[in-house]
Amino acid sequence: MTEKIAELKSRRQEAGRDFIALGIIASAILMFVGIGGKVLPEIFRNWLEMGPGPDPMLVNALLLNIALIIFGWRRYSDLLAELEQHQIAEENARALAETDMLTNCLNRRSITPETDSLINQANGAGKHVAFVMLDLDNFKQVNDCNGHQIGDLVLQTTAQRIKDILPGGSLLARLGGDEFACVVSFDPSHQGSVDQLVNRLIDAVSRPVLTGGQEVEITISAGIATTGANTSAATGALDAKCLLHYADIAMYHAKKQGRNRYFWFETGMEHQLRLRNDLEAGIRKGLTNGEFIPYYEQQIDLHSGELVGFEMLARWVSPELGIVNPDIFIPIAEELGLIGDLSGKLIEQALSDASQWDPAITVSVNISPIELRDPWFAQKMLKLLVKHNFPARRLEIEITETCLHENLGLVRTMITSLRNQGIRISLDDFGTGYSSLSQLQSLPFDRLKIDRSFVGDLAHGKGDSGSKIIDAIIALGDGLSIPITAEGIEDEATLERLKKMGPLKGQGYHYGLPESAEEVRARLTRLGRYRTFPPEGSAMQARIEETKHTAGRRNG
Ligand code: C2E
Ligand code: CA
Ligand code: CA
Repeated sequence: MTEKIAELKSRRQEAGRDFIALGIIASAILMFVGIGGKVLPEIFRNWLEMGPGPDPMLVNALLLNIALIIFGWRRYSDLLAELEQHQIAEENARALAETDMLTNCLNRRSITPETDSLINQANGAGKHVAFVMLDLDNFKQVNDCNGHQIGDLVLQTTAQRIKDILPGGSLLARLGGDEFACVVSFDPSHQGSVDQLVNRLIDAVSRPVLTGGQEVEITISAGIATTGANTSAATGALDAKCLLHYADIAMYHAKKQGRNRYFWFETGMEHQLRLRNDLEAGIRKGLTNGEFIPYYEQQIDLHSGELVGFEMLARWVSPELGIVNPDIFIPIAEELGLIGDLSGKLIEQALSDASQWDPAITVSVNISPIELRDPWFAQKMLKLLVKHNFPARRLEIEITETCLHENLGLVRTMITSLRNQGIRISLDDFGTGYSSLSQLQSLPFDRLKIDRSFVGDLAHGKGDSGSKIIDAIIALGDGLSIPITAEGIEDEATLERLKKMGPLKGQGYHYGLPESAEEVRARLTRLGRYRTFPPEGSAMQARIEETKHTAGRRNG
C-alpha cells in the first residue's frame, strides 16, 4: 500500500512538471498570435500579388510555433486523461486502506473516523450510538484444527451473517484476527433494541459453518458501550476511541464469564481489568524471580496414623501480595500459556526437596488439564526423575475429573506412558466431575481421591448423605480395586467416622496446614525421617518468613 502511495506522489510531481510545459505552450500561443499577426497578412498580400512575401525567418518561427502548439495540445489532453486515472487510482488506494480485504468490512483504521461521524449524525437526530465489540471464541482452535483456509471462510461467513442482521446505516469492521466491531445508532428510549440486536448476532454467528461437508462450531462473545448515560465512566464526551476501549473491556469481561455471551460496559470492569493486568505482570515477574514455591500437605494412613506422603501445593510468595493461593494464579498461568513452565519448576523443586526425605514417603503433584495436552509431558517427567535420581514409584500425579472430558483418548495415552515409567496416577476431586463408570474402568488409575466437599458433609450435619456418598465411593473403589484417599479431614470426629468406613488414606487441616519445605524438614527431622541436613536455612525460607511478617503487619 505504501508503494502505491509513493508511486502516486511521483506521478503527481510529474504532472506538476507537465503544467510548466503547459505554461510554455501558452507562451508559444501568444508568440503565434504576435508573429502570425504580422506574417499572415503578408502571406495573403503576396498570394494576391499585392506585395512582397514575408521574411522567411518569421515564416519558420511561425511554423515552429504551430508545431509547438500541436505538440502541446496533445500533451495537455494526455495529461488530463492521466490525471483522471490518477484520481481513480487514488480513490481505490484510499478504499483499500480503509477496507479489510478478507471480509470487505471496514478495518481498524477506518472504524474510528466513521464512528465519530455516526456519533455526530446521531447527536443531531437525538439518538445514541452503541459500539459492539465481538470476538470469536476459540478461533485459534478452528485455525489449528482445520487450517487457515477454513479459518478464513469462518471469518467471511461470520462477517456476512453480521451484515445481514445489522440495520441500514450501521458500521461493521474487522479490527484484526477474529475481532469485529459494529456500530449502530438507536433511540435512547429503546435501549432494549440493542440487547435484541446483540442476541440475534450471537445466535446467528453460533450456527455451525458448513465447509466441504464439515461442520465448524463457533461462538462469539460481545461487549457493548454506548454514548448514553449508562457508560458513566467517561468524564468528557464519549468519542469512538472511548467507546472502543469500553466495549473491549466489556467483551473481555464476557470472555471471563464463560464466553458465548455479552455484557454492557460498567465502571467496575475497568478496575477489575487493571487488577488482572497487575496479576498477570506479577506472575510473569514472579516466574522469572523464582517466587513460586512448593508447600506440602501431609497424607496419612488413617488406621496406623503414619505419615505416608505429601501433596505438593503451589504457593506464590509475592513481594506485593504476600502468600497467594493457587486458585488465584493457576488459572491465569494457564491462560497465559505459562502453566507448563511453572509446573515444571515446582515439580523439580518438589523432587529435589523430597530426595532428602525418608524414601518411603511419596510426593503427589497436581497437573493442569493443559499440561496433559503436551505430547512431551511424560518425557519431561522422566527427565526430571532422572536428573534428581528420584524413583518413579515415589511420584504420584493427580489429575482432576474434568480432564477426562477434554480428550479421553489423549488422557489415556498420557496415563499409560506415565504408568509405564512407574509413576502412579490419582483421580483428584472424585465425585465432582461426573466421570462415568466406563471411563473409570477404562483408565488405569492407581487411586481415587474423594473430594473434600463430601468429607466436609460428614461433619456439617449432613452426616447421612455425606456418609452414603463416601460409602458408595469406597464400594466402587473396592469393586475396581482402586485404593482411596479422603481429602479435607478437619476434625477428630470426621477422622473417627472415616476410620470405620474402610482402609483409607486421608489428609486435611486436622493434620496441619500445608507447610513450606523448611517446615517439612523440621517435622521429618523430629520424626527421624529426614536423611541429610542442608548446611543452613535457604534464602527462600528467609523470604517466606519476611513475607509472612509483612503480610501479618499489613492485615493487622
Ligand atoms: P486440591 O488438589 O484439591 O488440593 C487440596 C486443597 O484443599 C488445597 O488448597 C488445600 O490447602 C486444601 N485443603 C487441604 N485440607 C483441607 C481441609 O481440611 N479443609 C479445607 N477446606 N481445605 C483443605 P490449595 O493449596 O489452595 O489448592 C487449591 C487447588 O489448586 C488444589 O486443589 C489443586 O487443584 C490446585 N493446585 C495446587 N497446586 C497446584 C499445582 O502445582 N499445579 C496445578 N495445576 N494445580 C495446583
Ligand atoms: Ca490434589
Ligand atoms: Ca482435591
